[in-house]
Amino acid sequence: MKKYEFLLFDFDGTLADYDRTESWSLAEAFRQAGLPYNEDICLAEYHRINSQMWKSFEQGGISAPELRLRRFRMLFESCGIQGDPELVAGMYLSSLAESAFLFPGVLPLLEKLRPRYKLGLITNGLKEVQRRRLALSGTDKYMSGIAISDEIGIQKPSVGIFEYALHEAGHTDKSTVLVIGDSLSSDIQGGINFGIDTCWFNPGRKAAAAGIVPMYEITRLDELPGILE
Ligand SMILES: [Mg+2]
Repeated sequence: MKKYEFLLFDFDGTLADYDRTESWSLAEAFRQAGLPYNEDICLAEYHRINSQMWKSFEQGGISAPELRLRRFRMLFESCGIQGDPELVAGMYLSSLAESAFLFPGVLPLLEKLRPRYKLGLITNGLKEVQRRRLALSGTDKYMSGIAISDEIGIQKPSVGIFEYALHEAGHTDKSTVLVIGDSLSSDIQGGINFGIDTCWFNPGRKAAAAGIVPMYEITRLDELPGILE
């Protein structure tokens, strides 16, 4: 007997190769702004700053518009780049919206799951960017419920974004929902807060964080069908 009826996926880092999206978009924004781009220095520094900003955003410390701009201000300052961070921040977002690199095997996996499960998506991200990337990647047509934090004003790990996705999908029974995501602090903690089963997608085999215990852990997405049966 199958236990789950509704599979809720995170997007970036789970279905979408966000590292690739990010490095491509960053290079593209610098190119469009006519600024020299040293990938080795800029990308690492951007990662460091961006993850700091996202942590602060997830904790409610800064707003989405602040996050968009502040990460480039800090990057320019830290790398000594002479240019307009606001301009590059805008170009970065437009480039992001045009890049939708999925991990290999994602569409066949969704295709395989679709006849047996209702599928949904919850993502902390900017609505214009995520809507466009979901459409470009072809993942949107598989999803019964899509919840984008910037669109509804609630982000993971808050329970509201999960409630929204279930409502969108017309699904009421929480005991048949499984959330699958690569972030312990947003996807897994969010699933625990909401009271649903959780599956941590951990391709980098990172050590678990103290206090956040997922129900399942997989290192490859194709392990998912195995834990569903
Ligand atoms: Mg993620």
